[in-house]
Amino acid sequence: MTDAPRVRFAPSPTGELHVGNARTALFNWLFARHTRGRLILRIEDTDESRSALSYQTSLMDDLKWLGLSWDEGPDAGGGCGPYRQSERLEIYAGYLKKLIDAELVYPCYCTEEELEEERRSLILSKRMPRYMGRCRSLTPDQRKAREASGRKPSWRFKVPQTTVEFTDLIRGPMRFEGEAMGDFIVVRSNGMPAYNFAVVIDDSLMAITHVIRGEDHLSNTALQIMLYRALGFEPPVFAHHCLILGRDHAKLSKRHGSVAVGEFRRRGFLPEALLNYLGLLGSSFADAKEVLSRDEMVAAFSLERASKSGAVFDEDKLSWLNALYIRNLHVDDLVERLRPFLREAGYAEEKIDQRRLGEIVAAVQGELVTFAGIGGHIDLFFDDRYVLTPEARAVLASDRARQVISSFKEYLEKASGAPREIYIAAMQYTREKSGAKGRDLFLPVRAALTGRLSGPELDRVFAILGPASARERLERLTL
Ligand code: GLU
Repeated sequence: MTDAPRVRFAPSPTGELHVGNARTALFNWLFARHTRGRLILRIEDTDESRSALSYQTSLMDDLKWLGLSWDEGPDAGGGCGPYRQSERLEIYAGYLKKLIDAELVYPCYCTEEELEEERRSLILSKRMPRYMGRCRSLTPDQRKAREASGRKPSWRFKVPQTTVEFTDLIRGPMRFEGEAMGDFIVVRSNGMPAYNFAVVIDDSLMAITHVIRGEDHLSNTALQIMLYRALGFEPPVFAHHCLILGRDHAKLSKRHGSVAVGEFRRRGFLPEALLNYLGLLGSSFADAKEVLSRDEMVAAFSLERASKSGAVFDEDKLSWLNALYIRNLHVDDLVERLRPFLREAGYAEEKIDQRRLGEIVAAVQGELVTFAGIGGHIDLFFDDRYVLTPEARAVLASDRARQVISSFKEYLEKASGAPREIYIAAMQYTREKSGAKGRDLFLPVRAALTGRLSGPELDRVFAILGPASARERLERLTL
């Protein structure tokens, strides 16, 4: 094995990929790519009641959509598999046996109700709720009696009364007192390993050198370091990044709006923009640039630089970035990416003349913030979707507007040539004939041709519609 760093992203498939987790994945990916290390994807699916295969699929799908590739994982293979915890149960059982033999764990027969009762009374007496060790010193006979009554034990680790110290790559020196921690469960009564136990075994056997995860795992790290010692493993380096917060500075959750990567995807955000934005949150880049490609992020990434305090998720800023990325797309690429959204908006996009579709998309490119709602931008180009909004109707209601429209129509009746030239000449003719200029001239023409008061440049709209269709729209106007 080489000395290259090995990091992992270890999601629990209990829901859609959250932007917070996606950011953890991004940090691990950036670190792996920056250091020419390897990224391992491990699925932590030992909580059978909450894990679902569909979430595994969607997690992996969202990671791929973001462009976060892994070098080893359930579908990628690698020498340290299997990479799903549910397929590693025998491995955990082997290590539990070691701990039992070394008398570093003991069976606990407490019921949920008993534990809850203990918790409540500790809180009432203003002490920290934790397991107080009721089953730690049961005699063999007492254990037998409990088993005879049908109780299945969980296994608890005997927490040593020592101090755990480690240096976090982002947070610096950390210190936890063993005294403040209760003996914790390593294997549940149903035989499944608890998170802290499985993670230590997996991170060790998968030769993980750096564990990069959210600061909500800091206290777990202290427990995990105890297990590393008990199992005779060398702990990796830890880096706990800050969490993403909502605008109210509470941990980002559904009540703040969209939080799942899938939601942003369905709303028509670009993966490049979302990734760039997640990278900027609690910035970990060497310079102050805000718009960074994936390669630039890889080059500029530094864990040590990552902020310690929470980063506020600002959807307006993400939208700003998204609009910018959309503007910078080549129009052919934009058309391809828009296709599913066009279908969703009811367009049989494959039946539209593709050159025309390209022109339409190019005309609205600068207006788009996301892809959702694309219909609202392009409907005006399609006769069966063109409608006069009440605002447009109001603009067209004045005598002067009627005059503008009738002059414009008059010119179109006899015009021939290239659409753009026809438009310029028609405007000139209308200006002279009606005496209207500026807004009084442009707004009625825009209102009549597009049904709306704002949109792409009029000459462009006219060129795409073509003189015949423009004329027909004016003729059909009932004002
Ligand atoms: N499955 C854990 C989670 O999703 C992983 C935490 C860790 O990275 O150790 O929170």
